[in-house]
Amino acid sequence: MYISTNSRMRSCFGVQTQQLISRVFSHPVTGRWSAAQRRLSSTPGDEKPRPSMLRHLTSRIKATGPITVAEYMREALTNPVTGYYVTNDMLGPDGDFITSPEISQIFGELLGVWIVSEWIGAGRPERLQLVELGPGKGSLASDVLRVFSQLQSVVGGASLSLHLVEVSPVLSRLQAHKLTGTQSREADAEDEPVYRRGETAAGLPVSWYRRLEDVPTGFSIFLAHEFFDALPIHKFQRTQRGWREVMVDVDPEKTDQLRFVVAPSPTLASSTLVQADERRPHVEVCAEGGVLVQQLARRIEADGGAALIADYGHDGTKTDTFRGFKGHRLHDVLSSPGAADLTADVDFSFLRRVAGEGVACLGPVTQRTFLKNMGIDSRMQVLLRNCSDASTRQQLIDSYDVLTNAAKMGERFLFFGLLHRARLATPPQPDGPKLEIRKKRPAPPPVAGFTELSFS
Ligand code: SAH
Repeated sequence: MYISTNSRMRSCFGVQTQQLISRVFSHPVTGRWSAAQRRLSSTPGDEKPRPSMLRHLTSRIKATGPITVAEYMREALTNPVTGYYVTNDMLGPDGDFITSPEISQIFGELLGVWIVSEWIGAGRPERLQLVELGPGKGSLASDVLRVFSQLQSVVGGASLSLHLVEVSPVLSRLQAHKLTGTQSREADAEDEPVYRRGETAAGLPVSWYRRLEDVPTGFSIFLAHEFFDALPIHKFQRTQRGWREVMVDVDPEKTDQLRFVVAPSPTLASSTLVQADERRPHVEVCAEGGVLVQQLARRIEADGGAALIADYGHDGTKTDTFRGFKGHRLHDVLSSPGAADLTADVDFSFLRRVAGEGVACLGPVTQRTFLKNMGIDSRMQVLLRNCSDASTRQQLIDSYDVLTNAAKMGERFLFFGLLHRARLATPPQPDGPKLEIRKKRPAPPPVAGFTELSFS
């Protein structure tokens, strides 16, 4: 099998990763091409208020005082009764935003190759748990599993299981339908840690959890795509009297409206979450994201594995990114809570800092770099060569453009990896004269996506 490209290619990747990509790329596209609108280019729109969530928040604030932005975001997105994620199917052209796995199956296929390549890099452990945080419609998991079935001869020996961390009952049902057809069942009791179990057509076990803590330990590869941006952030403002937390209060002039206020004195969060050497005038800190990354790091350190976190974000440079989306348009974050998506760019410098020394952190690199390193150009050439239908060809080209164009998703989205330290250890030196060896000391094995992919 060969991946066609016309450029000068040099061998720097493990032969195995090239072979994996070649095999996956020989399979055809199974159309999922949509008009690719993104969360990022939008204009404000006016929406009908949703009184119940607003009433809940205003009565709470009137009773106990202003709430943190994190608390506001948590309520608006994941309140078990009226939260946005709990009650909506928001993904796709008819929803509020569309994501890379929904734009093109190539995205999930390349991430599938990354997972197999990291599993091989870890020495092909016998048991592999694939864990996805916030799986949306299940498209990414489904594309990844297709890669696994195409690479049966490589991964067939491993016992694979899929574990989905999902807060939304609506989305978990969609995921179950996509991944298992009718072969899944909800737990009898509401508080079961595994709230749904099922099996794919190929007999692979799939389990659903509300929290990462409930996922069993063991060698795991974790995926989180557009998950961390949905976690609650705290917002802090630098003032002449030091850092102060931005809070959400009821507008005294219009009591059915909310407004931002700055806390008059330090809060627990403003005293603990802002770095002593912080230089920005305004910062957003996602404490919940930090806790999750620490849990991932601890698991990887103890049981082996890797995590791939992809999201729009920055490396500790941006200040005010909290925004809302509804119907593919920007939406006022404080109006109609529960009816719109709320999101903030992921601060990858914060995730790297809290991950600690127990794991190796890679990136962040841009989505464009990651996908190109994974061979998206080669995949496109094969698909275009095998596709004679003009409109499918155009869809392919458009989707490729949305995913990789620097002005679209190519540079706003970043990929960040956590790996077990042993994965990047320099291979043992062969026996031989010391001086000679020092010169030829082998480089640590490359990690797909984060290192340029090239072929001889
Ligand atoms: N990864 C998907 C979906 C992104 S939307 C994609 O790229 O298409 C965010 C996803 O995370 C949704 O599935 C949402 O229900 C889930 N989610 C949001 N907050 C969560 C939380 N606190 N715990 C678990 N899942 C959450």
